[in-house]
Amino acid sequence: MVARRSVSVFGSTGSVGRSTLDVIAAHGGAGTWDVEVLTGGSNAALLAEQARATRAKLAVIQNEDALPTLREALAGTGIEAAAGDAALLEAAGRRVDVCLSAIAGAAGLAPTMAAIRAGSTLALANKESMVCAGGLVRQEVDKAGTRILPVDSEHSAIFQVLEERHSEAIDRIVLTASGGPFRAYSLEQMRAVTPEDAIAHPQWSMGVAISLDSATMFNKGLELIEADQLFPVAAHRIEILVHPQSIIHSMVGYRDGSILAQLGTPDMRTPIAYALGWPRRVDAPVERLDFVALSRLDFEAPDDIRFPALRIAREAMEAGALAPCAMNAAKEVAAEAFLTRRIPFLEIAVVVECVMESFDHGPAATSLDDVIAADRDARALAREVMERRARQFA
Ligand code: NAD
Ligand code: MG
Repeated sequence: MVARRSVSVFGSTGSVGRSTLDVIAAHGGAGTWDVEVLTGGSNAALLAEQARATRAKLAVIQNEDALPTLREALAGTGIEAAAGDAALLEAAGRRVDVCLSAIAGAAGLAPTMAAIRAGSTLALANKESMVCAGGLVRQEVDKAGTRILPVDSEHSAIFQVLEERHSEAIDRIVLTASGGPFRAYSLEQMRAVTPEDAIAHPQWSMGVAISLDSATMFNKGLELIEADQLFPVAAHRIEILVHPQSIIHSMVGYRDGSILAQLGTPDMRTPIAYALGWPRRVDAPVERLDFVALSRLDFEAPDDIRFPALRIAREAMEAGALAPCAMNAAKEVAAEAFLTRRIPFLEIAVVVECVMESFDHGPAATSLDDVIAADRDARALAREVMERRARQFA
């Protein structure tokens, strides 16, 4: 058993958040962990249940309308309840041994920054923080003297096999991708897919937004940028490889021809356990990999004609500055429009590309305010693009 550790989970009611609480429960629960803060978007009932089960000190719900429900559900427990964005930031400012950042989307950036500034070790699932503000995040990490432990499965894999003492000898990073539910679809078939088709991921059980991002492959695009921000490897040395079974979670190739890979069943509880336990390895409640049952692993080259998100993301990464932030913001707006059946699936990438063509991604951000402004402007531009195209094709 490791020493007691304090932990906060931002986005505990989501897919990664729930898996995190599973790992905490399997690894001693309240006997090992001092759970400081849990947060959710609007599911106050689940948040209260989680806070009671883990004996958290504070539960924060982002949606202020849900505060009365949260308060009522926590009455008599001594667990503090709070709501709103300011309360989230205050909570992220409470220093803990490890803060798991698992809010979905660009909304996770400000709490992530606050957690770093507080000096908490950051277990980072919210890839959008690195995409939108990688430079600032790294700067704050250095200033606070803390560190990032990647939770995204690919980045956890790379982190696990990247030997720092050999970083000069890295030849390439191979970022694996399942290819999503439409891996084998033609463009013609993709024209007619529904939100239900798009969020049914073949290998991973995840939140709605990231499931859709896997279908468009924007998720891999975001992960490419995330890898570029996290690891000391030139961007052109990061390759994407489609691997439908999602057993190899990513690889690092060295100059001598050796390739180190991390493998496991597709279950987020493994990379979460790695981050929570680091620098040790702890138990995770996951199925063991059965190689005989698996019998084979397949690989394919990525196709950026059917999945233009891969090309758009690489271009945004190369453009640098606020281009990745704008890409993510436009993608979030277009994805939401698809999920609410206002645009077809293939329009998501078209909208993002139109935004990227006219967005002035300017000089690199020097503050969080610059990032928030770029995010807001790109969202407005995406809405304009969608309106213009709707008129054009009406
Ligand atoms: P999810 O949608 O299941 O959960 C998101 C959490 O954030 C929920 O608790 C939700 O209530 C909260 N939330 C949403 N909007 C919010 C807002 N504006 N303010 C505050 N809280 C808000 O998402 P998820 O699938 O768990 O993904 C979370 C993050 O982890 C994302 O950045 C995703 O890309 C990343 N990630 C997820 C997986 C996965 O397997 N699900 C894998 C790798 C990385
Ligand atoms: Mg991933």
